[in-house]
Amino acid sequence: MEHHIKKKYSNGTLTITWEPEKCIHSAICRKGLPDVFKPAEKPWIQLGDVNSEVIVEQVKKCPSGALGYYYNE
Ligand code: SF4
Repeated sequence: MEHHIKKKYSNGTLTITWEPEKCIHSAICRKGLPDVFKPAEKPWIQLGDVNSEVIVEQVKKCPSGALGYYYNE
């Protein structure tokens, strides 16, 4: 039986979470911010040196709720 998966991707300040079973592959994230969301690469989310607030704005546009975020301590 498959258990719930929540993957995490961090740049030190910000952590992006992704729940694959919720993702409907709308590609909204990839089209909106291709420097961060790279489905052809591993890991497919790479925060790099992209501004955290820009990433958060894109995360909020995820239609399925698969993407989430929190700021690290
Ligand atoms: S925007 Fe959300 S639902 Fe669409 S591909 Fe990205 S993570 Fe998946």
